[in-house]
Amino acid sequence: MRRDLFVLGVLILSVMLLIWNGSSFFGTIGRLSTGFGIDHKLSFTALTLNVALILFGWRYYVDLQQEMERRAESEARAAYIASTDGMTGLLNRKGFAEESERMRVEAIADDRHVAIISIQLARFKVVNDRYGFDVGDEALRRIASAIESVAGEQRKVARISGDEFVIMTVVKRGGREGPMALAEAALAAVTQPMMIEDKLITVGAFVGIASACPGELKSRDILRRADIALAHARTGRIARPMWFDEGMERELLRHSEIEQSIRGGIDQDQFIPYFEPQMDLETNRVKGFEVLARWEHPLSGIVTPDRFIAVAEENGLIGALSESVIRKALEAAVKWDEPVDLSVNIAPIQLGDAWLAQKLVRLLTETGFPPERLTVEITESSLFSDLDMARTIVESLKNQGIKLALDDFGTGFSSLSHLRALPFNSIKIDRAFVSAIHHDVEAEAIVRAVTTLAEAIDIPVTVEGIESEETHAAVLRYGCAVGQGWYFGKPMTADQAEQLLRHGSADLVAGRESKIAKSA
Ligand code: C2E
Ligand code: MG
Ligand code: MG
Repeated sequence: MRRDLFVLGVLILSVMLLIWNGSSFFGTIGRLSTGFGIDHKLSFTALTLNVALILFGWRYYVDLQQEMERRAESEARAAYIASTDGMTGLLNRKGFAEESERMRVEAIADDRHVAIISIQLARFKVVNDRYGFDVGDEALRRIASAIESVAGEQRKVARISGDEFVIMTVVKRGGREGPMALAEAALAAVTQPMMIEDKLITVGAFVGIASACPGELKSRDILRRADIALAHARTGRIARPMWFDEGMERELLRHSEIEQSIRGGIDQDQFIPYFEPQMDLETNRVKGFEVLARWEHPLSGIVTPDRFIAVAEENGLIGALSESVIRKALEAAVKWDEPVDLSVNIAPIQLGDAWLAQKLVRLLTETGFPPERLTVEITESSLFSDLDMARTIVESLKNQGIKLALDDFGTGFSSLSHLRALPFNSIKIDRAFVSAIHHDVEAEAIVRAVTTLAEAIDIPVTVEGIESEETHAAVLRYGCAVGQGWYFGKPMTADQAEQLLRHGSADLVAGRESKIAKSA
């Protein structure tokens, strides 16, 4: 700009000189014609120099203009690159921050609200790992354009991290239907199966929505709220868009406090195994135990898994937690006089750990517990995202003689297809069905049907949640082989389990149950 002014100044000066010289030139001509002779060569040289200076200045000015245009273009290009996601062509986080602020200011002027929809792909890493980055990139591009076409031109769409997309829209004050319909359409578009290089790829996603008066919250705060709602959907495995509410924020704070104390709890060995008896329903003898984690909290006492398993899964702590609980359970059980079977629970996320089989085998070797007496319980939800990895892990486990049970059968996704997907040794019918068999005909029909089906494919059934004599009799009639539940005994400490083994009969167990329940 300063150079620009300088050149302009030179030009103006040159023109002024030209005028001045020109007047003296014409004055000279005039004087010559009237007979007065002075040195006209000097004036002519000055004039020529002036013209050259003007031409030079003009040329310089034009060059400068062009350079400035080029610079403006490259600056615009750099700004575009800085605010655009190179892979999908959508806005990136920076671009979204700028555009959404602009949109927010407009919304304030129009007295409207701003809504942000946050979409996160579920375990997209699996697509990259399984099919390679080219396929993964293409899937991301298709997902981006699907979201863009659902959003239309009026809304801002961005990819703000590897697997997270956002849509920002302006809505009438308090309007929820519009954003919800948009979020549902976006979710449906993202989860559409797609064909890439003759591979059929389906990607799951979680969605959070938040809206606010733009005068009260900045767009980054609205985005943070949408992300909290998204985290809520992800933790609860909720496959529909979730609206943000204040309770979610409080829960998040609580979660981070729990996370901190879980870390401390693992370091201080506060997670211990409890044992729930698994009964042979025909003979009424204890067959084995399901190992269930308990947290011996210095202030809260014995804490049950519903308070910590989900948080531990979310924060990658479940592996260390489970390992320490399983180790203690195996160490205790090898010392018991009676040989027993143990069942341990493996969280969905642990099936993504390629070393899981090796870790379990090492625990068995170090504790001396026989592998053929160990069963690993896997829930249905753990199978839906990475079946190949699950297969590899399961094969390694089976090679060691470890058995496999499908836990919580009936509550997950596509139950029957999962039965064929992996070589299960037993199926555990979820207690939600079992506890309802006396008052819910559907639940009863499901328990009967699953037992018959399992019999047909030669896989024994374990029934969870037997709480009464009546239920015990009913499931026995249906042909279930193994059962567990509070009728036989609540989860108990290792010492209590050892004592229970010495008695061995279900009647005694049931008789002891109230005592155990009080002491636990
Ligand atoms: P699960 O594997 O389905 O375990 C059965 C749950 O049902 C246990 O709850 C058990 O106490 C409860 N239960 C059993 N019989 C009855 C009954 O008759 N009535 C009622 N009302 N409840 C009964 P718990 O111990 O709270 O465990 C909950 C879940 O936490 C387990 O469900 C399992 O998925 C998970 N979990 C527990 N320990 C571990 C662990 O060490 N690692 C992992 N990854 N998950 C664990
Ligand atoms: Mg279980
Ligand atoms: Mg279960």
